[in-house]
Amino acid sequence: MFMKQPARMTESLCLACGLCCNGALFADVILRGASERALFEDIGCVLRTQGGGKRLPQPCPAWIQSRCQIYDRRPLYCREFDCQLLLDCRNGQMTSKRALSLIRRAARQLGAVERCFQQLNDRSTHLCLRLRFQRLRTRLARRHLSPAESLIFSRLGLRIHQLNLLLSKYFLPSSPPHESPRKTNILTAHPSVT
Ligand code: SF4
Repeated sequence: MFMKQPARMTESLCLACGLCCNGALFADVILRGASERALFEDIGCVLRTQGGGKRLPQPCPAWIQSRCQIYDRRPLYCREFDCQLLLDCRNGQMTSKRALSLIRRAARQLGAVERCFQQLNDRSTHLCLRLRFQRLRTRLARRHLSPAESLIFSRLGLRIHQLNLLLSKYFLPSSPPHESPRKTNILTAHPSVT
């Protein structure tokens, strides 16, 4: 009974969130070993090579309908990761209610970001937030923007910046849990929108 409560809290928060799987918080997942690579190569996923290893680009193809579809077989990296929000709830520094409220705020902000992308005819939902923004910026730089498009693009930059502030403050762990952390969207998206 004592052990079930943290597990239930983790499940309800993670199912409501998904930010560490959907490309908002991270750009990729480090894969370790052939079996982890095979999990994704077998479903036709193109892995990224970095530092002699393989990484799974986010959004993760296993994140479907707000659930990890391979939860029992998910990569070690996913098993080891706990966001700051979860850590704060576990050690009693934050209530679940407050955490859920922050998750909903992040979801609303992410929705506002998505609407700006769509208004600029960007449907690249297969890319993480950082890459998506960078590619859109490159594409738009090649042509003259109407005043309305310029306004939406400025708004997009502002929305991403606001989202990043929220994610940095509450979701991204203050100390990296691993020697070679996943690329975050947080640190790299900031310069691209200023
Ligand atoms: S494998 Fe599962 S836990 Fe890991 S990033 Fe993909 S959806 Fe998330």
